[in-house]
Amino acid sequence: MMTGGRPPVVGLKGVSKIYGEGDAQVVALRSVDLAVHAGEYVAVMGASGSGKSTMMNIIGCLDTPSLGTYELEGHDVSDLPEDALSLVRNRLIGFVFQSFHLIPRMSAAANIELPLIYGGVDRDERKERVDEVLELVGLTSRAGHRPNELSGGQQQRVAVARALTMNPPLLLADEPTGNLDSTSSADVMRFFDDLNAAGRTIVLITHEDDVAEHARRVVRVSDGEIVADVTTREVASA
Ligand code: ADP
Ligand code: MG
Repeated sequence: MMTGGRPPVVGLKGVSKIYGEGDAQVVALRSVDLAVHAGEYVAVMGASGSGKSTMMNIIGCLDTPSLGTYELEGHDVSDLPEDALSLVRNRLIGFVFQSFHLIPRMSAAANIELPLIYGGVDRDERKERVDEVLELVGLTSRAGHRPNELSGGQQQRVAVARALTMNPPLLLADEPTGNLDSTSSADVMRFFDDLNAAGRTIVLITHEDDVAEHARRVVRVSDGEIVADVTTREVASA
C-alpha cells in the first residue's frame, strides 16, 4: 500500500499499561507494537478483559501508557498533560461510542456543533460544517430533533457526524453497534465502509465477527498482547 513516507496515524511502540500497585497490580497491556497507516480500517478484537478498552483509551489519548511510546500522526503523545491531550483529541480523533454519548437536551445539530465550538471554529464556518456532515449521514431533515426523538441507528449517525466535524485523521469506534438492532447495525457498518472507501482511517473495537468482517485488517488481543494481526483486504491504492 502507499503511505507516501508519512508517519503512521497510530504508532504504538512497546506500550504497556499497568494498573494498581503491589499485589493488586494488573498488567492490562504488555509491550504492544502497532502501526496503523492512513486509509487503513482495523478491527481490534478480543475477549472481555483482554485489554481492548485499555488500548482504545491509549489510542484515543484518553489515557497514557505506563511504558513505551505513542506517536499519533508523528507527534509523540506518550506523556502529555491532560490539557494538551484534550486538544489532541479535539483535533486528531473522532470518537464513536457504544452508547452514543449524545447530550440529551441538545438537538442533533447542536450536538454535532460541539467539537467545533471547543475547537474555536467561528460561527459561519460551524454552520457550514454542521450542514455538510448532517447531509453526509443523511440526517438533514432531523437537524432540529433531540436524541430521544431519533432511533438508535439515527443517534449513532449523529454521533458519527459529530466525530467527523473536525475532519480528524482518525475515526476511533468502541463497539459502535453494541446497542443497535441488526438493521441499524448493518446501516452504520455500511456507512463506515463508505467512509473508509473515501479514505478515512478507522480503528474499531468489537467482539462481533460480523462487525470485524467489514474491516480490512483484524488485530486480536489476548491477555494484553497482540496475538494475531491479519490483513483481510488490501487498501485500494489511491
Ligand atoms: P476489555 O476492554 O478487553 O474488556 P480492559 O482493557 O477493560 O479489557 O481490561 C484489561 C484488564 O485490565 C482487565 O483485567 C481489567 O480488569 C483491568 N483494568 C482495566 N481498567 C482498570 C483500572 N482502571 N484499574 C485496574 N484494573 C483495570
Ligand atoms: Mg472493554
